[in-house]
Amino acid sequence: MFHSDSSADQGSIFYVFSSLVVSHMHQLCFSSTIFRHTGHHTNCSLGPGSFACFDRNSTHGRKPKKRDRIPQNVEFPPVLPKNKKKPYPIPLKKIQEAGRADKKLAQMGIEKPLEPPKNGVLVPEFVPLAHQVLDAWKVLIKGLAQLLHVIPVHACSECSMIHVAETHNEIQDCYGPTSASRRSYHSWVKGSINDVLVPIDSYHMYDPFGHRIKHETRFNYDRIPAIVELCIQAGVNIPEYPARRRKRPIRMIGRKVIDIGGYVEEPKPHIPVDKESSIVDLDTHQALERFPPPPILDVPKIAQETINAYEKVKWGVTKLMKKYTVKACGYCSEVHVGPWGHNAKLCGAFKHQWRDGKHGWQDATVEEMFPPNYVWHVQDPKGPPLKSSLRRYYGKAPAVVEVCLQAGAIVPDKYKPMMRMDIVVPENEETRFVA
Ligand SMILES: [Zn+2]
Ligand SMILES: [Zn+2]
Repeated sequence: MFHSDSSADQGSIFYVFSSLVVSHMHQLCFSSTIFRHTGHHTNCSLGPGSFACFDRNSTHGRKPKKRDRIPQNVEFPPVLPKNKKKPYPIPLKKIQEAGRADKKLAQMGIEKPLEPPKNGVLVPEFVPLAHQVLDAWKVLIKGLAQLLHVIPVHACSECSMIHVAETHNEIQDCYGPTSASRRSYHSWVKGSINDVLVPIDSYHMYDPFGHRIKHETRFNYDRIPAIVELCIQAGVNIPEYPARRRKRPIRMIGRKVIDIGGYVEEPKPHIPVDKESSIVDLDTHQALERFPPPPILDVPKIAQETINAYEKVKWGVTKLMKKYTVKACGYCSEVHVGPWGHNAKLCGAFKHQWRDGKHGWQDATVEEMFPPNYVWHVQDPKGPPLKSSLRRYYGKAPAVVEVCLQAGAIVPDKYKPMMRMDIVVPENEETRFVA
């Protein structure tokens, strides 16, 4: 059934089913050769752009609950164009409305009502959470460093693509500067931990509500992993990166701070410490040298701990970012933890000349703070390289998830639809028509 002609795009009918077919799917059980059936047979129902299968026998005709539905495949996340500003995570209309409300209060001379942490005071309930996130972050770095001694990662020297498997892939999706001369094949080199866990650094602020960083003063501030900075601002004390803990809240009228909660002198940035300091564990720098190859029998356990830590960091960062403000540049990957962004003129992205090199600050998303860095999911890491002609059968996963899976971890169900784990990849494009 569903025979398409040989054009590559036609094949995508397997993925993008029109919702018109929904009503037929209950009678129409899927028996296409491209799906791997696992034990019990299923009935299928459709969601937008995907379809979900339910076991008729186990649901006994009842309407399946939402959590029973596991879509079999979902679209890949869109790649944002480089010649455009990123969309606002909060609709512009809402931002403007809030701005107008602030201004109105300010014109009447009324202070802006500020709850912790927006008034510079810690939220006590979030302090343990910040500790949990930082602990998980360290486990994630350590685990990944150990796994990367065992799991091979290839990185393209011309673009940001990486590939996790014994051999690199032969998929022609390189958009690097010289890709035309390579017919869009990637230029593979050995990957590093920073290709898997993309470093997002930000300035450490002793007082995020204090002086704004200027272009000229930028060297007075340390650059540290943004997640670590978020944990510090949410209550973790790290002696090398001191933070101001206010007792008296700041007060604002409109966008102007009228009371900074008393003045204190900012300490100087920290002097590089000896290797014994625990701050080396907060960073991926030289992580592979710090953590030797693990005993081979321990690998699946480390993989499971690593993916659990990855999930915990993502969950915790999502929660912290609901309370603590993080800004991201709308044009590049710069992130700033704190309420106001900074004024270092280092933005080299789209139309930076128009902004005098300043970043265009907007609210950050969790993905900007903790980029998933999607890679192709490889069903058989020791098998033949993935090919362009079969790419519509392949799925994707966050790089860390793919590394952990290949090292023996059990992957949370939520990743499976995009990984297209139920799809049987034919050996080559012709097999499908012969079958
Ligand atoms: Zn490339
Ligand atoms: Zn920027």
